[in-house]
Amino acid sequence: MIEISNISKWYGAFQVLKDCSLSVEKGEVIVICGPSGSGKSTLIKCVNGLEAFQQGHVSVDGMKLNGSTGLLRQIRQRIGMVFQNFELYPHLRVLDNLNLAQIKVLGRSKNEATERSRALLQRVGLAAHEGKYPGQLSGGQQQRVAIARSLAMDPVAMLFDEPTSALDPEMINEVLDVMTDLARQGMTMLCVTHEMGFARRVAHRVVFMDAGAIVETASAQDFFSHPESERARDFLSRIL
Ligand code: ATP
Ligand code: MG
Repeated sequence: MIEISNISKWYGAFQVLKDCSLSVEKGEVIVICGPSGSGKSTLIKCVNGLEAFQQGHVSVDGMKLNGSTGLLRQIRQRIGMVFQNFELYPHLRVLDNLNLAQIKVLGRSKNEATERSRALLQRVGLAAHEGKYPGQLSGGQQQRVAIARSLAMDPVAMLFDEPTSALDPEMINEVLDVMTDLARQGMTMLCVTHEMGFARRVAHRVVFMDAGAIVETASAQDFFSHPESERARDFLSRIL
């Protein structure tokens, strides 16, 4: 489904990604973890073309990313991405946040879009909030709206970049529950997160990055019970 092959990226003389390869199967849930600055965000942004890279290639659902803007648009449309800071349109009500790209990008009618949006708001437990503005919702609710908005585009895969790290502790679980539900329903997911409980319960594989490289890829069970690298052991001892 997602093929990351030997990607390297530099900012000037600084190499931010070092020959990273990862193959994600359809329906697979992968958690990417590692210290701050290790290149996790940069790597997943390479998957949907938000970051360019100088070496290697990425293909998504058979489409190879090569810098052509048409293809890039297609790939961005087919992959949902949820960031730390929700990034909802503050001046639009929840329902319109979900409808906008469905109408503008996918060409759905307002009725079709609304029907899809309402079903998704129901799924993330926010059916009663469709008329509110993002500022009237809690952080956890806003993040669930952001997930629903991504899903409205019928993505073939979802990327998450620390979706719970800006949330108060009591709101983290409501977002992780939505992500868990999504995983159980077979969504292909690449999640940067430090929620190791989620990784243990939900991830099929864990990828550990350090200093721009993928140091270790293992089943969640193996990663937590006996991480192979010293760096992963050290990382786990500091966060668990
Ligand atoms: P965090 O856990 O803090 O989010 P991360 O693993 O997601 O970290 P990245 O954001 O991918 O790390 O950054 C990787 C490295 O690239 C960092 O050292 C960062 O300082 C550097 N970097 C990121 N963006 C740029 C940029 N535009 N120019 C130069 N260096 C950059
Ligand atoms: Mg990051």
